[in-house]
Amino acid sequence: MRVDSHMHTPLCGHAVGEPIEYARMAAKLGIDVITITCHIPMRWAAFGQAGIRMQAEQLDDYMALVKHTAVEAKGFGVEVLCGIEAEVFPDESELQPMDAILAHYDFDFVLGSLHAHCQSYLDWLDKYKVKSDAMRIDSYFRHLKDGVQSGRYDSMSHPDVIRTYGVVRAFNPVLHEEVIREFLQAVVDEDICMEVNTSGLTKGDYEVHPDPIILDWASEMGVKLTIGSDSHWPESVGQFFSIIQPMLYEKGFKDLHYFRARQRLRIDMV
Ligand SMILES: [Zn+2]
Ligand SMILES: [Zn+2]
Repeated sequence: MRVDSHMHTPLCGHAVGEPIEYARMAAKLGIDVITITCHIPMRWAAFGQAGIRMQAEQLDDYMALVKHTAVEAKGFGVEVLCGIEAEVFPDESELQPMDAILAHYDFDFVLGSLHAHCQSYLDWLDKYKVKSDAMRIDSYFRHLKDGVQSGRYDSMSHPDVIRTYGVVRAFNPVLHEEVIREFLQAVVDEDICMEVNTSGLTKGDYEVHPDPIILDWASEMGVKLTIGSDSHWPESVGQFFSIIQPMLYEKGFKDLHYFRARQRLRIDMV
């Protein structure tokens, strides 16, 4: 059985292709279950509005679109689940409107993303004078750990995305091992998942999220994984899974997980 648990729709404003096209691509690739995970609406403009995420008023349309797609895709054997890519942020008061959305809608799956390159986070770093790369990287993983402990999320997505988009220069995870392991330990302790996000292979340093070194630690520590292509167009559904899943297996991960109605389901890695 194969799954892809991270992809977007045109409602985000920066993804192309209807969800049914993503589902058809999944069918072609032998992927049995896909989870649509559009960016959650955020009221504060610093999180990005038009072109980044749908508005709160569009959520009903989103739910209906995914539901409709699920019915159609069932006809050719692909299960379509409805998730959301929620935000992680150090200032909890900014997350209250998001929490109301999470409480109101029945999502199958909630991703937790700290988009370090969003103006909201860059402003936070400025405000608290977090200037050096080393400090920024440590802050990022501490905030990610706080996100894990918040109980909001099922899986922490693209866990080292701070390495992309120029927020910090390329870094060796070994130099931040302690803080990264604290994040990983929180994932284990809270019994949630971490995402392996293959979109990393298409950007920046052309490496999977998280870095393979972090995956070694995660394997050793017993972290459970979800996997997502983070597709913003149908052609990238399942991208690089055929090379990344064997790599994960080699590293000792024998299973993957996905979520239906917020319940974790286990499948074999290969
Ligand atoms: Zn993201
Ligand atoms: Zn996106």
